[in-house]
Amino acid sequence: MYIHPDASAVAGALAPDEPVILNRPHAAARAARFFAQKFPGKSLYAVKANPSPELLRVLWDAGITHYDVASIAEVRLVRAVLPEAVLCFMHPVKTAAAIAEAYTVHGVRTFSLDTQEELDKIVAATAAADGSPATDLSLCVRLRVSSDYAELSLASKFGIDLADAAPLLQATRQVADALGICFHVGSQAMTPFAYVQAMERVRAAIVDASVTVDIIDVGGGFPSIYPGMTPPPLEDYFASIHRAAESLPISYSSELWCEPGRALCAEYNSLIVRVEKRRGQELYINDGAYGALYDAAHVGWRFPVRCLVAGRSGEAERFSFYGPTCDDADYMEGPFELPADIQAGDYVEIGMLGAYGAAMRTKFNGFGEGTALDVADEPMDSQYRGRRDTRVSDNVVSLR
Ligand SMILES: *Cc1c(COP(=O)(O)O)cnc(C)c1O
Repeated sequence: MYIHPDASAVAGALAPDEPVILNRPHAAARAARFFAQKFPGKSLYAVKANPSPELLRVLWDAGITHYDVASIAEVRLVRAVLPEAVLCFMHPVKTAAAIAEAYTVHGVRTFSLDTQEELDKIVAATAAADGSPATDLSLCVRLRVSSDYAELSLASKFGIDLADAAPLLQATRQVADALGICFHVGSQAMTPFAYVQAMERVRAAIVDASVTVDIIDVGGGFPSIYPGMTPPPLEDYFASIHRAAESLPISYSSELWCEPGRALCAEYNSLIVRVEKRRGQELYINDGAYGALYDAAHVGWRFPVRCLVAGRSGEAERFSFYGPTCDDADYMEGPFELPADIQAGDYVEIGMLGAYGAAMRTKFNGFGEGTALDVADEPMDSQYRGRRDTRVSDNVVSLR
């Protein structure tokens, strides 16, 4: 595939009528190498953040061998793209048919759960034809933890409360070859303390249940950089997690896992959109809430932007966006800073859309077509370039 230098070159050469997704394989590979080399354990890519087959191959080539999948469709997809990958089925609510297919057809051995019913389902669905139970299961009990330090909560839906965890951990220990405890601190966790606090809950769960635990899985939540959200360097997170894991009552041979989604793919994509109309400080663009800008519309997430038209030199002003569909909810408040003299027909690049952006596009209302191209330049921001000062000592108070 031809690799364009950057977004301006693409807009200049193609003057695209539809939005264009830009891929930066080098940025995703750099993120993957960083996790593969520096996380003090195993890194599972959380496929839901961006299931693009091209991206899956980039991550695999850069050293990511394990994949956190949440549906049978994700299991089949990753198995088809990466025949040798280790797949971990980490959705705590699965159908019996999905578990059985994952186990027997696709070689999945790792499953998560947060109820006795799900444990019974997994045991039944993985039993041999003669009814004998599987002896090779790695089962991770999902513990509910606080999302207080994350930008997007994941605390209310999944996870067993600490107070109820002991019987489930003991029952799971009975049938598991390897017993794990997993959790998710919420997405875009802005301080390593989120993990330290969650690990304290893990400690209490282990002590309460008096079980031997083989896997500690700290989940996702590792942050990327967005306007107004500059987290501490990822090294700080890794150091805090490492220290917290070392102090748990578990054996030296137990494993530490993490499940980064956002952090591995945020820098992979940006998007070229065209301004179709300007109304004051509102720009009508050709992608939106039903396209790659779901989070910008629904949770007010801000993404970095730049105007791709040479000669627009007006001072930066604050704009909001309307997407192309007829739905009033197709509105992105921003603010997005663009030149004061921006006008209809101008192209804009929206950055850091690799996580929960490119993956979220729908064809609602006849929009959502468009191509993807590779570009060679750097993402608008990066967790993995240059030196970022670590500040392990003050990470406990680095809440905004
Ligand atoms: C969504 C999800 C992840 C990835 O979360 P990020 O915040 O994108 O890192 C990891 N694990 C599980 C179980 C998830 O549901």
